Amino acid sequence: MLRLRNIRYVSLPKIWNIFRLHAFYRKAKRSNLGSIVPPPNFASYEPTNICNLACEMCPSGKGLLKRPRGTADMDLYRKFITENCKTLTNIMLHFQGEPLMCQQLGEMIAFARENRIHTMFSTNGQLLAQSIDLIRDARPDHIIVSLDGLTDETYTKYRVGGKVQNVFDGLEKLSQLPTKERPYIELQFLVFSHNEHEIPELQKLKKKYRIDKITLKSAQIYDESQIDFLPENQEYSRYNISNGKVKLKKKAENHCKRLIFGTVVCFDGRVVPCCFDKDAEHEFGNISNQSLAEIRNSEKFRNFVKQVFTQRNGIEICNNCTE
Ligand code: SF4
Repeated sequence: MLRLRNIRYVSLPKIWNIFRLHAFYRKAKRSNLGSIVPPPNFASYEPTNICNLACEMCPSGKGLLKRPRGTADMDLYRKFITENCKTLTNIMLHFQGEPLMCQQLGEMIAFARENRIHTMFSTNGQLLAQSIDLIRDARPDHIIVSLDGLTDETYTKYRVGGKVQNVFDGLEKLSQLPTKERPYIELQFLVFSHNEHEIPELQKLKKKYRIDKITLKSAQIYDESQIDFLPENQEYSRYNISNGKVKLKKKAENHCKRLIFGTVVCFDGRVVPCCFDKDAEHEFGNISNQSLAEIRNSEKFRNFVKQVFTQRNGIEICNNCTE
């Protein structure tokens, strides 16, 4: 739902672009890719793919990413925002890595806001307390704070190398910000077998830290060796398990809204389909030498869209995706 304070991000060209995206999406579902691919309505832009934790199941934290490590170049980022601000409604300053490890995060948020784009980022919360001045000054609109356990014992089963108290300290600092300066705070709890019993306790944090929303999220696993992480309560699992094999509960349909309405830019400018392409294996182009419009109308992009809308199960990343 649109919050009143976000009304400043709405404009006629953005509304018109959303209509165009819906029209393109409907046509693509009928295998008609004849028209121009409209610009995306939202983007994820990676401030850095460096992280301070070694979370289970995270290729970045586990040191398994095949692409180089680095942080966003501000000139490239400014070029991207300037070229796309008329149609972009929302920018998510996260992909792989921990955004608060990026020195320029505050600048990135402020520049997007100046250009009337709603800003958000997702953090593991370890550096939140010490970043409170950055948050107060840059004024992100929305922060997702991950808290996947309420004690060090449950928290560190997944967030390897972290301390749960650091997240609580960060939430405390955020709660002390005056209402006008405080971003919308969403607490995200990945539900695992080792923390599902903490869900009732979690609700008490809402009032304590003035949290706007608590999201219980199902975890993504990559192979059968990680089955033990899945919770017993089926409500919080995206998989069915049969004879030791995991299968997504949701049937993968041959279409994808995220691919059409959004885009993902790696720190070095490479454009990829979505946040499931952690290693940029489906790179469509680079914003350092092409416009996003050129990239989204390239043969590479169109062929990828065609495959997702006709035979999605032929693309590995799409097979473990609930979109
Ligand atoms: S993995 Fe495939 S289906 Fe899922 S969001 Fe990405 S492109 Fe779409």
